[in-house]
Amino acid sequence: MGKIIAIANQKGGVGKTTTAINLAASLAVLEYKTLLVDADPQANSTSGLGINPKNVEAGIYECMMDGVAPAEAMVQNETLKFLSILPSHIDLVGAEVEMVSIERREERMRDVLGKLKNDFEFIIIDCSPSLGLITINALTAADSVIIPVQCEYFALEGLGKLLNTIKIIQTRLNPNLEIEGILLTLYDSRTSLGNQVVEEVRTHFGKMTFNTIIPRNVKLSESPSFGVPAIVHDAESKGAISYLNLAHEILNKNGLAK
Ligand code: ADP
Ligand code: MG
Repeated sequence: MGKIIAIANQKGGVGKTTTAINLAASLAVLEYKTLLVDADPQANSTSGLGINPKNVEAGIYECMMDGVAPAEAMVQNETLKFLSILPSHIDLVGAEVEMVSIERREERMRDVLGKLKNDFEFIIIDCSPSLGLITINALTAADSVIIPVQCEYFALEGLGKLLNTIKIIQTRLNPNLEIEGILLTLYDSRTSLGNQVVEEVRTHFGKMTFNTIIPRNVKLSESPSFGVPAIVHDAESKGAISYLNLAHEILNKNGLAK
């Protein structure tokens, strides 16, 4: 049975998509069969892996709303044999509205991913910057959640609301949901601000914070324009190595290292 990990924070630009793509790619490089689910209508994970969202006929949206079989919507990554993606496109915006009035509206994604749990060792869900129904679906489907926090001013802003939403979901929809960890991203060691935020987050959240810190690294920001993860773009880069470290940390924490 695979582990489903959602990457969530309703704040935009904190590194959710970068984390989803590069964590999924790192696990795939380590030969864990991994599926990346793009649950954001902006489809940045989809395009970041070289798929034009305009050409996506069936994605997670059609699986959730129209009963399309996930096997039909899934795309195998061209470079990494152990990586597949369930893509997204702009119509997922419509899903948010349509879903309000349907049955099992919070559980649609769990139903879809439940069919895939035996085919993958990891399923990573890239969430949109909102706490709307699609993100609630992702958190209901997930076994755990990674919360990226950028090392900038107001880093902790909005975290209370997110943690509260997680609590509500644990009570009402998914009692098994765990916090996999808080991930410090976009860290710049040259600034004292970066170090202050690291200290603040570690003081606040203690062991919940991953040891791995993701540095600000240009290879991470430019690799999506080549349609590949950083590890394919430049395997020696600090960005690629830090996400590989994160993958190892998660594997060790879960007792899953091979
Ligand atoms: P989110 O999905 O939370 O909105 P993204 O992962 O899309 O955030 O990141 C926002 C922007 O910051 C993107 O342009 C991305 O390429 C860039 N970025 C994210 N993480 C890093 C990093 N560690 N180093 C450099 N650029 C980064
Ligand atoms: Mg994103």
